[in-house]
Amino acid sequence: MFESPSGRRLGSPSEGREALLESVARIVVLGSTGSIGKSAIDVIEQDGAARLALHGASSHSRWRDLAEQAARHRPRFVAITDPSYSSSLKQALHGTGVEVLAGEDGVVRMVQDPATDRVCSAVVGAAGLRGTWAALEAGKIVALANKESLVVAGPLVMQLARERNTHVFPVDSEHSAIFQALKTGARAEVKRVILTSSGGPFRGWKKSQLSNVTPDRALKHPTWRMGPKITIDSATLMNKALEIIEARWLFELEPDQIEVVIHPESIIHSLVEFVDGSVIAQLSPPDMRLPIQYALRYPHRGLAPGERLDLTRAFALRFEPPDRETFPALDLGFEVMRAGGTAGAVLNAANETAVARFLNGELAFLDIARACRAIVEHHHFDPRPTLEDLLRLDAWARGELERWHP
Ligand code: MG
Repeated sequence: MFESPSGRRLGSPSEGREALLESVARIVVLGSTGSIGKSAIDVIEQDGAARLALHGASSHSRWRDLAEQAARHRPRFVAITDPSYSSSLKQALHGTGVEVLAGEDGVVRMVQDPATDRVCSAVVGAAGLRGTWAALEAGKIVALANKESLVVAGPLVMQLARERNTHVFPVDSEHSAIFQALKTGARAEVKRVILTSSGGPFRGWKKSQLSNVTPDRALKHPTWRMGPKITIDSATLMNKALEIIEARWLFELEPDQIEVVIHPESIIHSLVEFVDGSVIAQLSPPDMRLPIQYALRYPHRGLAPGERLDLTRAFALRFEPPDRETFPALDLGFEVMRAGGTAGAVLNAANETAVARFLNGELAFLDIARACRAIVEHHHFDPRPTLEDLLRLDAWARGELERWHP
């Protein structure tokens, strides 16, 4: 018996899964050629007890990387979502026995395969919602790296998980820390959760210094090595804005139970404060393989997949309040998190488009949060949208942001 992130006890089907993990868990990694996907494959490869096996993997267009992963791990199948690469991939994997699937249907087939135990959802952006949704529909446990699934459709995703008697385990390092810290007390005893943020590459900068920031400069993160989209999100603090929304739905928190603190060392990954004033933190070097492994193996722990924290070496852990004036994305995130409904889907779509336009040199760094606020504020808010409403608004917000001018 173990607990899900939202504090529900898992019943007998999950006990079956728990027993299963004592043998081998077959994992499908969606977005296996991205930053998190590669780390997930690394975790599976390093798994000393050989309790994790790669059952399937998908990529949008990086067929060479996908072929390499497949040749090495021999999953049952791989899926390339851009079908124009499927013949190249088939050729590369000829004779390996790995079945090659194409398009979104291929992803659905892999995640819904009866032999699939867990799905690591690591596609970047709202595009990842599809795979998350298909996996939950099939009753699979989802190790969620795609925070956008919850930012866009948190209440619907969590409701689907409940209906199918399955669970979403966080891969995001902050949420993994909270998930672990929550185990030290009862849910009714939680006062608040505090997400840490490194502050990104522009911590300590003022607004005037940020007006001419180039994509190259914004892509240099001080503590984490990640893909380009999340690195820009970390520089604007939009990543933290998305993460507080993710935390609200994943842990079923009230909006005023969520706070953010800047912690430049990225050693404490987040904290939970209980009613008695006790604050429980989770510490480790900044390495995504640890939260990935925790989500793939939960409720069991594996051996450290990376370096251990060395406390014989002198170092300091600092905390400071976020600079909300310089990084307005954070307050926008709090407003959107409180609003719920359609606001998260609109913010996320606007931000994805704004980041792409910034990387193309079409928007200035400070325009990202400004443009997102403009689109969120003039969208037609609905407190209880359907999935179709959200997908329609996602497309609408992208179009609006494409047309937005400073
Ligand atoms: Mg994170």
